[in-house]
Amino acid sequence: MLKETFLLDDLPKLQPDQVGLAVLGHPIKHSISPEIHTAALKVLADSSEEFSRWSYHKIEVEPASLAKALPILADHGYRGLNLTIPHKVDVLPHLSLMDEQARIMGAVNTLSWENGAWKGYNTDGIGLSKAIEDAFTISLKEFQVIVLGAGGAARAAVAQCIFEGCEKVAIYNRSIDRAQLLSSALKENELNQEVLLLESFLNPFAGSKEPVLIINATSLGLKSEDPSPVDLTQVDGNFYVYDMVYNPAVTRLMTEAKKKSYPVANGLGMLVGQAARSLEIWSGREVSIEAMSEAARAAISR
Ligand code: NDP
Repeated sequence: MLKETFLLDDLPKLQPDQVGLAVLGHPIKHSISPEIHTAALKVLADSSEEFSRWSYHKIEVEPASLAKALPILADHGYRGLNLTIPHKVDVLPHLSLMDEQARIMGAVNTLSWENGAWKGYNTDGIGLSKAIEDAFTISLKEFQVIVLGAGGAARAAVAQCIFEGCEKVAIYNRSIDRAQLLSSALKENELNQEVLLLESFLNPFAGSKEPVLIINATSLGLKSEDPSPVDLTQVDGNFYVYDMVYNPAVTRLMTEAKKKSYPVANGLGMLVGQAARSLEIWSGREVSIEAMSEAARAAISR
């Protein structure tokens, strides 16, 4: 049994028949990715013995050590990595191979060891899309979308909306200049669809009968005392609210939305969805979303 969290300096080499997977971050102690992936690996191992030699760990990697960590991990037997705060953008200069969607999103949350090099992917967008369809039984492309925030998670969300053909997408962020940067970055990457930039929170699609999805991609909500990023009492619409925050399970935004009887969901489905896609990339197999969701819920309630 390997210990829970490793530092790069005390990372043991895996046996040649073992396959290592890991999440790298700083800080990484609170990540529940090992529980989620271990549950799915157990299901895979039931049908294919090779997966009993796969294991998933947490590795504390400071920003300055990321470049050094990547070859060390490959040498130690790691074949799949997830990246979380603060590595998703910082890793880009260290990659020679990148999936097209990750390049457009400008961030990588998954690395796969392919033909002797790390290849970067971004599974956050697909995780979000699957989570929305599961939660609301409406596919992402059928929504008009307002994304709150303009950081990495917002960029993945806006890009995914465009990839999937959402006709109308708007961004509202506390700092409008950052929203402008996001919009220009997408245009530079040949995503030419017009994205509305909102200077204040309003429903730019008012009057239309189509459902409007509000996605919270700000970090507001992570602390239980955080206010809602927007005031839902001031606007009306056929709203659905997806909050990327999953811990706490119910944010102030979700509480406000429930008061107005809007359907709501938290970010746990996205967390599981992105994990499932990463494991599919590494294993080449379909993975058990049920096992991953159950493990995620259990880990959060501990
Ligand atoms: P970033 O730090 O890149 O972006 C943070 C965003 O939040 C910015 O738009 C920032 O606005 C905004 N913000 C921060 N504080 C405030 C505030 N007090 N009032 C209003 N806006 C604020 O973070 P990420 O994009 O990486 O992550 C955003 C959220 O998404 C986090 O909660 C993260 O946990 C969650 N997430 C969830 C995932 C999942 O699987 N469920 C996956 C990835 C992320 P400004 O530009 O003005 O500073």
